[in-house]
Amino acid sequence: MQTPTHAILALALLAKNGDTKRNRIILAGSLIPDLFIYICWIWLSAHGLSQETIWNEIYFQSSVQFWSGFSNSIPMYSALALLGYTQRKTKWGLLLLVFALAALSHMATDFPFHAEDAHQHFWPLTTWKFHSPLSYWDSNHYGRIVGGFETLLALSCIALLLKRLTGKKTQTVLKIFFGLYLLSLIVRLSFWFGFLGG
Ligand SMILES: [Zn+2]
Repeated sequence: MQTPTHAILALALLAKNGDTKRNRIILAGSLIPDLFIYICWIWLSAHGLSQETIWNEIYFQSSVQFWSGFSNSIPMYSALALLGYTQRKTKWGLLLLVFALAALSHMATDFPFHAEDAHQHFWPLTTWKFHSPLSYWDSNHYGRIVGGFETLLALSCIALLLKRLTGKKTQTVLKIFFGLYLLSLIVRLSFWFGFLGG
């Protein structure tokens, strides 16, 4: 799924009102799996490589696949979650647990919706990839429909968070994201009806 949706979902699952530290750690855990690919993309784009070369060639090179497998490793985040769970009575243990759970919620929503661009989700145990028939973006793999559902999921999670997190700044940021997702839903629907009409 899109990176902001991962963050919104993890917060909806785990965030607590007034617990800034916990909520920041959740945000970090939900974003960290995508961090490597963003750094890679910015670095390569700054060096003048075309988007086509980045996503169709470099993305599939073994070194990039290794690091994306490392940052999207279900066994690794599960081990961290287990360690955090055994130490959940301590402050760091609980934070480690929510961090790993946030990352695992990212895995849970990427695993079923990556087709050709699937990650090595079980690295280092295996480099096997699940090439889903569904994709969150690729229209050859029902990307329009999955993307529509993703937008609805994000809107519902933001609505939940708007009720739960009462901080003034948080409310503003949530409302901005709600507006952006709503806009994307309107654009998607107009494409969808245009698509059906054509
Ligand atoms: Zn991801």
